[in-house]
Amino acid sequence: MARVVLRNVEKTYAGGTAAAVRDFNLDVADGEFVVFVGPSGCGKSTTLRCIAGLEEVTGGTIHIGGRLVNDVQPKDRDIAMVFQNYALYPHMTVYENMAFALKIRKTPRQAIGQAVDRTARILGIDKILGRKPKTLSGGQRQRVALGRAIVRNPKCFLFDEPLSNLDAKLRGEMRAEIKRLHLDLKSTTIYVTHDQEEAMTLGDRVVVMKDGVIQQCGAPLQVYQRPINRFVAGFVGTPAMNFFEGTIASDAGRLWFDEGAGRLAIPGWATEALRARVGSKVVLGARPQAIGDGGRASANGASANGAAPGQGNTLPMRVEVVEPLGDKLDVYLSTPRHRHVIARVEAGRPLAPDQTIAAHFDLERIHFFEATNAGALLATAAAEPA
Ligand code: ADP
Repeated sequence: MARVVLRNVEKTYAGGTAAAVRDFNLDVADGEFVVFVGPSGCGKSTTLRCIAGLEEVTGGTIHIGGRLVNDVQPKDRDIAMVFQNYALYPHMTVYENMAFALKIRKTPRQAIGQAVDRTARILGIDKILGRKPKTLSGGQRQRVALGRAIVRNPKCFLFDEPLSNLDAKLRGEMRAEIKRLHLDLKSTTIYVTHDQEEAMTLGDRVVVMKDGVIQQCGAPLQVYQRPINRFVAGFVGTPAMNFFEGTIASDAGRLWFDEGAGRLAIPGWATEALRARVGSKVVLGARPQAIGDGGRASANGASANGAAPGQGNTLPMRVEVVEPLGDKLDVYLSTPRHRHVIARVEAGRPLAPDQTIAAHFDLERIHFFEATNAGALLATAAAEPA
C-alpha cells in the first residue's frame, strides 16, 4: 500500500486554451479513501489519469509510495484502474480476464489460480468464471472489472466513475460493496465521481473541484456543515442549499438579515463576522432541512401558530408547489425576491399552493456568504475542524 502525493500538479492539454487542472496539491494517506467530486469538466478524470500515467502532467510532481513517478510508465506505477465502461477483454472468460495481468507478470499458474479464486469468492463471481463478458449483467461485469484490479494487489486503486453505467439500485449495492472491500483490503483508493451523494458516502475525505481547481478538501461531514464557499455549499447535499441575497441591518440593538419580505435575526455566532457589513449585501444559505413550516402567516408576516412574532426566525413565504415524498414533503416556496426555495418538511402538514406561511428558519443551521462570485464563507455555526 502507498501514500500518494501531488504537488502543484498542472495539466494543460495540447491545443487546450485553459489548464484542465491547476495547482493541485494533495496528500492521500496510506490506506485512505479519497473521492474527487465536481461537475462535469472540472478536471477530476484528468487528475486521476495523471496519477495513473495515462496523461503526462505539464507541471508539478506525483509521488506514489515515496517514488517520483512523473516519468514512470503506467504499467510500472503499481496502480490498478477501474473504469466506467469496464474495459473487459470480450474474447476472454471471466477467469482469463482476471488472470491476465498476473500472467503477463509471469506469476506461477498455481498462484494465479489461488488469487483469482479467492477474489472471485469475495466478489460473489466464483460461479461465472467460465463465462464471457457479453453473457453477464452490468453488475457482474463491474464485479469482474473490480476483481481484475484486486487480484493484482496494487499499491493504489484508481476508480473513474465505475458505477455510472448501473441502474440506481445496483449502484447503491455496488457502492456498499466497494466500501466494504476497502475496509477489508485497506488499500489506498482514489475515486472519481460527479455524484455528490456517492462522494459523501464513500470517502474518508472528499475533494470538491471546479474549473480545474480544488475548492475544498475535507471529511464529508465537514464539507457539508462548513462549506468554504457558495459553490461547495450548493454542490454538496440534496436537495441543494437555498440562497437568499439580503442586506445586513442594525436595529433595536441587534443585527438583522433583511430579505425584503421580512427579516431574520442574526444569531450570536455570526455577529462578529457581520457587524462590519451593516448596510451591505450578503448571501444567507439554508438547506431545505433547515426551513420548516412555522404556520400560517398573519398580515404582518408573523406566525399565527408557529414561532412567536418578533423572534426573528420566520419569513413570510408563498407556497408554490407541494411534492409528497412519502414520509416527507418538498415544499417549493417563494418571496417576491426569491423563487424556487425548497423546504423539506414532515409529511402531513396542511400545506396547499398559494397559501402564505411563516417559513421557519433554524438559525443554528444557516450559513452566511459574501455576495460575490467567489461567495466565500463569512460565518456558520459549525465549529472549525481541529
Ligand atoms: P471531469 O472528469 O471532471 O468531467 P475532465 O478531466 O474530463 O473533467 O476534463 C477537464 C477539462 O479538460 C475539460 O474542459 C475537458 O474538455 C478537457 N479535456 C479532457 N480531456 C481532454 C483531451 N484529451 N484533450 C483536450 N482537452 C481535454
